[in-house]
Parts: sequence; structure tokens; C-alpha cells
Amino acid sequence: MAQIKLGFLGLGMMGLPMTRNLLRGGFAVAGFDLQATAATVLQGEAGYRVASAPDDAAKDADVLILMLPSSKVVDDLLWTQGLAQRLKPGQVMLDMSSSDPICSRENSQKLQALGIHFVDAPVSGGVKRAIDGSLSIMMGGEIAQIEAVRPILLAMGKTLVHVGAAGAGHAVKALNNYVSASGLLAVCEALVAAEKFGIDPHLVNQVFNASTGKNNTTEVKVENFMLSEKFNSGFALALMRKDLQTAQTFIDRMGTPDDFAQTCLKTWMAAEAGQGQGSDHTAMYRHIRGR
Ligand code: NAD
Repeated sequence: MAQIKLGFLGLGMMGLPMTRNLLRGGFAVAGFDLQATAATVLQGEAGYRVASAPDDAAKDADVLILMLPSSKVVDDLLWTQGLAQRLKPGQVMLDMSSSDPICSRENSQKLQALGIHFVDAPVSGGVKRAIDGSLSIMMGGEIAQIEAVRPILLAMGKTLVHVGAAGAGHAVKALNNYVSASGLLAVCEALVAAEKFGIDPHLVNQVFNASTGKNNTTEVKVENFMLSEKFNSGFALALMRKDLQTAQTFIDRMGTPDDFAQTCLKTWMAAEAGQGQGSDHTAMYRHIRGR
């Protein structure tokens, strides 16, 4: 069988290790990032080529993978810069960014009219699981296209769930991060209050992890990134706020109560403003402690 050729746009915290795993899986990848140095990190690795522009990454690709910051960036690239119109019929666009589900559903329809297939396959698990190739991947799109990209996704992730039509993957991703961000915020408020009452936060977290308060933050983030004050999980506060905003807008658009999502979003926006550009999302703990 001929080798599957991939284009990969966005070689940041997640895109770089994901591309490395694609190369290990035997795929040929042409990588492009706006920051030229990011695209050259993998130079010299078997199967890798540095692309000079998005069009160069896309030109020979069977599947063009996006791992970009947001739908705004995706839409700018596809429609303002016109990349979509220059793709070839039959190519597949695989948007693995945490994009907006409503934009993605529209993109899928517009691409379909041009003969381009679309699958959304955002990921969860963070940088650590991007490195070890065990990401959780939620997929939206038509079954034939899902099956076509499954071997590619299996090089980057372990748990693959087809959640529905185009855009459904992005909807589930935003909702997952809403649940995750609200859990993280609750843990921060609880730890800081306990500390003020004179209780050691390490002990509080130990109890949470043995009790019903356990969540991904208590298990993975409290000791490693918050109480250690390293605040370096590799997932930016600005990206978490974006995901939360996507989820709140989505819940509202579905005509569903979103009071809690709105309150949560307000605190994340305040943390983003207070913690400054480039802060890690685990700096929410510093934000709550400083208030
Ligand atoms: P990042 O900022 O580290 O990487 C994004 C990369 O995209 C950057 O290198 C940037 O230069 C590049 N870029 C921006 N615009 C571009 C363009 N037009 N063409 C080519 N490259 C462009 O972000 P990240 O943490 O890797 O996140 C990427 C996506 O994955 C986001 O949608 C994020 O929400 C999602 N995500 C991140 C994590 C995490 O833990 N970091 C986990 C799950 C999902």
C-alpha cells in the first residue's frame, strides 16, 4: 500500500509531539508553523519535510491536519487566506484543534461543496499524553472518512470515540473542557479556603483523592503544577478560557441553562487578565490565592 502523505499545520506544544508520533508510525509529514523555528525542530527525522507555507504542506497531502489555536485562526487560513479553494477534491481536512463546533459544522458543509472531506478530531490528555501517544480523541464526521483517518489517529491516541456528525467532536471537546475547568476552579477555591483555616493543602488534596471530590485536577495538577508553584502543565490559560467561552456559547445556542458556565467563564476571564499573557491554566490557583 502506498505511504499516506500528511500535511500538518501548527507545531506547538501539542502539534510537535503529535507529529513526532506520526513519523514513528511511518507516515510522511510536511509540517508548517508560523514560527519558522517550530517547523524545523523535526528536520532530519525520517519522513519529515519542512513546508514553506500552508499551501506547500497541503499540496501532496492525502490528509491535511490542523492543530491550531482556535476557529478564528482556522477560518482565517481557510477562507480569508483562501487555502480551502486551493485544496484538491478528495483531500481530507482533519481539524484536531479545539475549534468551535458551530464554525466546524459550517466549514464541513462549505468544504464538502468544494469536494473536500472534513473530520473534526480534537484531543484531550495534554502535552504528556501527546508525547506518549495516548491521547483521547473524539471524532465527528461521516463513517467512511472516520475509517479513512483512523490509522492516522491511532498513531497519536489510544481512546478514539466517534461521537457524531461533523462538529460533534468539537462540541464534546468544548463541553469536556467546561467540566474540567469548572472542576479545577472548584478545587482552587476549596484549597485556598482550607489553607486559610490552617489546613495543609497537600493533606486536603490527599483526602480529595481518596474521596468523592477526586477529579483530574486533584489527581494530576494540584501537586505537579499548583502546590509546586511550577504552573507549567503546557496548556495555556488563554486556551482554556477560549474553550470555556466556546462551551458557554454552545450551551446557550442549544437553549440550555448556562448560569454556572457563565459564572465559571467570568472567573477564568478575570484570571486571564490578572495572570498575564502566556500564563499556564494551572495559574488559576495563584489567581484565587491572590484575591
Ligand atoms: P500552541 O500555542 O503551543 O501551538 C499552536 C501553534 O500554532 C503555534 O506554534 C503557532 O505558531 C501555530 N500557528 C498559529 N497560527 C498558525 C497558522 N496560521 N499557520 C500555521 N501555524 C500557526 O498551542 P497548543 O497548546 O499546541 O494547542 C493547539 C490546539 O490544541 C489548541 O486549539 C488547544 O486548545 C488544543 N489543545 C491543547 C492542549 C494542551 O494541553 N496544550 C490539550 C488539548 C487540546
